[in-house]
Amino acid sequence: MTGSATPSSQWLPQTISLGIGLLVLLPLVGCTRSLPPTLHDPPRTATSTTAGPNQSMIHLARVESGVVVIDLGWWGAADALARGLDELSATPEEVVAVFLTHGHRDHVGAWRELRHVPFVLALAEVDLFLGQEGPEGILPRVARRIVPSDLPRPGEVEVVPFASDTAFVFGSDTVHAFNVPGHTPGSAAYLLGGTLFAGDAVAHSPTGGFQPAFAAYSDDTSQARASLHTLRARLARHELDYICTAHARCIAAGPEFWSEVLAF
Ligand SMILES: [Zn+2]
Repeated sequence: MTGSATPSSQWLPQTISLGIGLLVLLPLVGCTRSLPPTLHDPPRTATSTTAGPNQSMIHLARVESGVVVIDLGWWGAADALARGLDELSATPEEVVAVFLTHGHRDHVGAWRELRHVPFVLALAEVDLFLGQEGPEGILPRVARRIVPSDLPRPGEVEVVPFASDTAFVFGSDTVHAFNVPGHTPGSAAYLLGGTLFAGDAVAHSPTGGFQPAFAAYSDDTSQARASLHTLRARLARHELDYICTAHARCIAAGPEFWSEVLAF
């Protein structure tokens, strides 16, 4: 929407970016994603995944006052966002809030398309999202050195930070935000419509199943594990059907999930 770089100037970074993606995101390649039906039920909800092996998820949901969006994908994020809005028969102007699970480049790709919208994120994540601090995880750090992340600068978007677990109310709909630091300093999980969007605080691999955030991508793995332990108790009073990673791996939120993920 606002990109003005010429095709030739875009080619090189995108190619390098593709290389980085293939190198650092290979462990995330899995079999076909299957989403809970509630996550893709137009015109009430829609879920798009962006191109590439890591399939970052963009979730859109109609709420009483408009549309909320959770995470903004990576490669082809603008198109994926547009597809989701189409399925809701919505325009970008109807989006009332964007909720970011964290500020890594593979989950914020379409920020320019929604730069008029308030961005909700954990207070501890603001500096990472606005490029004032770099990621600590080894692979995101290397990737950032090769190709700097395309992030908004301070003042380019309105940020609505939350310091502790917070409920954001949109008429009869509520998004519950939970702090789950560790993958990044301000990683967050959001509960909406019975699904917990856990970002990269929960990871999945074909061999290891569901587990806490991958070490190579994360700032602090012991903090990430501790966050999941406390999260279970914090979720106890809520109705929770599914848990999804930011890479579109979802599972029923039963005791099996918790024993699997908390065993690490
Ligand atoms: Zn991440």
